[in-house]
Amino acid sequence: MKLLVTGGAGYIGSVVTAQLLEAGHEVTVLDDLSTGHADAVPEGARLVRGTLREQAAPVLEGGGFQAVLHFAAKSLVGESMEKPGLYWDRNLGESLALLEAMRRAGVGQIVFSSTAATYGEPQSTPILETDPTRPTNPYGASKLAIDTALSEYARMHGFGAVSLRYFNVAGAYGRFGERHTVETHLIPNVLAVAAGTRPSVKMFGDDYPTADGTCIRDYIHVVDLGVAHLLALQACTPGEHKIFNLGNGNGFSVREVIEVCREVTGHPIPAEVAPRRPGDPAVLVASSQKIQAELGWKPEHDLHRMVADAWAFLRSQR
Ligand code: UDP
Repeated sequence: MKLLVTGGAGYIGSVVTAQLLEAGHEVTVLDDLSTGHADAVPEGARLVRGTLREQAAPVLEGGGFQAVLHFAAKSLVGESMEKPGLYWDRNLGESLALLEAMRRAGVGQIVFSSTAATYGEPQSTPILETDPTRPTNPYGASKLAIDTALSEYARMHGFGAVSLRYFNVAGAYGRFGERHTVETHLIPNVLAVAAGTRPSVKMFGDDYPTADGTCIRDYIHVVDLGVAHLLALQACTPGEHKIFNLGNGNGFSVREVIEVCREVTGHPIPAEVAPRRPGDPAVLVASSQKIQAELGWKPEHDLHRMVADAWAFLRSQR
């Protein structure tokens, strides 16, 4: 297929672009390089630098594209609490420009990077796609608004849309991995301690109602996540908007993650307890039963493998 990948210079977008190319697809990446890196775009993909507002229409018009995979977004919860307008503009505003450009160009298939943050504080675990969506921050709210727009574009304009609600993505795929300028995620921060670029890791809160007091998250390997995108692409059905959770279905606490990082790296990794981070739910674990049943997806990589691949990637960068 001829595909447009927005945000293909970022962490997840670059991994999925590499997998799409390997599967024989033709890929154009559209990325403004605000947080991505031009050298992260896999060889064989064409890179167009620009925002969706400026470039989606000229790239799509007459380009013969069959589908779009939409990764481009601002994705830091904390930043979204400080700058909600930025998140509404860059996430929802840019996405609406993309949807209109698709409609005008007659491209009606889209796979969208949604998020577990659309659910907010869960009432029960594991989280099902039918659970209430009550985001607790502008990041999750802006992503939920895009999901709503996708439902209406499916209903009114016959789009075939699939939203994948990611839980905690980790790991790397060869030379494609996490290279955030501001790193807030747990696993890269813990590995930075093992690599000697940070003195110790802060555990945000040890008084949560969990067995060891630290927050529990559902970690999914970026390669398993990528495989789900390839399946989702085949599942775009005109007139339908399908939503799937993507996680492993198993939760690991912050302490457990640090312990796995110690085992993988052989480094003691000093850790200290710090105050809770605002907006963190105690437990976020996905039910991925729906995507397993409907698309035949299955996670293949465990937390050890995620940490080992992220560690190999980090060392290759030095
Ligand atoms: N966390 C932590 N120390 C860090 C980074 C994260 O204790 O340096 C915790 C965070 O509070 C959360 C979990 O690790 O409970 C996962 O956080 P992350 O930012 O990786 O992903 P999120 O769940 O926020 O999407």
